[in-house]
Amino acid sequence: MKSTRWICLLGCLGLSACNQPEPAPTVTQTGADTASLLAAADALDGNVDKVVHRCYVCNLGMNGKESLAVEHAGYTAHLCSEGCKQEFASNAESVIANTKIPAK
Ligand SMILES: [Zn+2]
Repeated sequence: MKSTRWICLLGCLGLSACNQPEPAPTVTQTGADTASLLAAADALDGNVDKVVHRCYVCNLGMNGKESLAVEHAGYTAHLCSEGCKQEFASNAESVIANTKIPAK
């Protein structure tokens, strides 16, 4: 997880969006599981408040910022950078579907 954070940090410091998603090796999930995936991400911080405090675009490995929030499916996602916010805002369903919920 540490290396992931570094890659993300470097990406976020640059001008490009951090952590470009790798090509999915399997079929992309449909949006049916979005709610449960969001619920699991929400629970990561031990505080189920419908706010995902970690950056979804960075595989939930970076802390998001309240000032970079995007609402989706009843949840508020905090993103870590403007690039991540744009990515999530335009591709929320696929970002959520392709993000593995890290173990606590
Ligand atoms: Zn990010």
